[in-house]
Amino acid sequence: MTLEQKLEILGGAARYDASCASSGPGNPGVCHSWADDGRCISLLKVLFTNHCLYDCAYCANRRSNAGPRAAFTVTEVVDLTLDFYRRNYIEGLFLSSGVFRSPDNTMEAMVAVARSLRLEKGFRGYIHLKAIPGADPKLVRAAGLYADRLSVNIELPSRSSLEALAPDKTAESIFRPMRQIAGESTNALAVAAHHRSLVPRFAPSGQSTQMIVGASPETDLDILRLSSKLYSSYGLKRVYYSAYIPVNDDKRLPALVGPPLKREHRLYQSDWLYRFYGFSPDELLDPGRPYLDEELDPKASWALRHPEVFPLDINRAPGALLLRVPGLGPRSQEKILAARRVSRLRRQDLKAMGAVVKKAEPFLSFDGDWAPVRPTAEALRALLIDPSARRKDPGQGELFA
Ligand code: SF4
Repeated sequence: MTLEQKLEILGGAARYDASCASSGPGNPGVCHSWADDGRCISLLKVLFTNHCLYDCAYCANRRSNAGPRAAFTVTEVVDLTLDFYRRNYIEGLFLSSGVFRSPDNTMEAMVAVARSLRLEKGFRGYIHLKAIPGADPKLVRAAGLYADRLSVNIELPSRSSLEALAPDKTAESIFRPMRQIAGESTNALAVAAHHRSLVPRFAPSGQSTQMIVGASPETDLDILRLSSKLYSSYGLKRVYYSAYIPVNDDKRLPALVGPPLKREHRLYQSDWLYRFYGFSPDELLDPGRPYLDEELDPKASWALRHPEVFPLDINRAPGALLLRVPGLGPRSQEKILAARRVSRLRRQDLKAMGAVVKKAEPFLSFDGDWAPVRPTAEALRALLIDPSARRKDPGQGELFA
């Protein structure tokens, strides 16, 4: 098999990982991802191999599927990365893999790629490696010494779904490397804090994970509670939500009309709300209402359910509450806080604060003066309905302004 054929197969097989969006058929193996500083970076995104010992129900590469299989050698991935990098096609490598022979054997090969790039070739680009569930902690540690980011994919949001749909994996084989990565990262940061000349050298861009949405019966509330715990307990940088795309005919999987992209989008928005807007998952949903509203963004939905909080006086309300006003985001909140230190804000100032005036105005008063015409609850809902509900990386820009 030629290198081009391998790239076609193993670049295509890697496309289901949401942490790096594939660029499409014209660019096999190239994807874009977001760096820590918010820059969009291009990466060579490939599997080391799509041979797999495991038989996860939802996966195109599972053991029981037919289809072309391929495997790179360590040298091939290293040379491809350097070749693409020198031609300015990419700024780094995203390497994942099926599990061939054993988790250790697979992880060893991936570490060998990263080690060769860093130590033998002096490669200074970005490296994102998947940690293979069940791999020896020594190999996970070695991976963190060479990679910028590590990720262990949870895939399914509960132990019972994992047992039903990915019976070869265990929750412990996923959470153990996550815990280890969190601990090693904290240690590396502590060492760097005491020795200022040292750059923290364990996966300095942290770790991420991915959850499939819609392949198993967990509610949005279950998913959000789990991801919020992952952020707080394991210091994750990002949880990626990936709408389930049916690729296998398997009775254990639901029959969906299409991938639940709206649901995925609302989960990203909610994730953003508890990471940056001070919401908790249990404020956004509750056991009696465990799914996000597909028509309304979760912040607007919360505001409509809490009329007792509004109107907020723009000249007096605490900053944390201003963030909860539909039509205001962190940038407009900052502008409001800065402006009101020197003058009283008036209704006509709202636009200059970067607010979406139509959405924000019904929720604000100006030194006691509320909106002259207050919409009914139904009209307010109609005003707040977000017709776009489009897929967009929520790391970029203000989704709620
Ligand atoms: S271990 Fe990964 S590659 Fe293998 S079947 Fe499961 S999801 Fe697919």
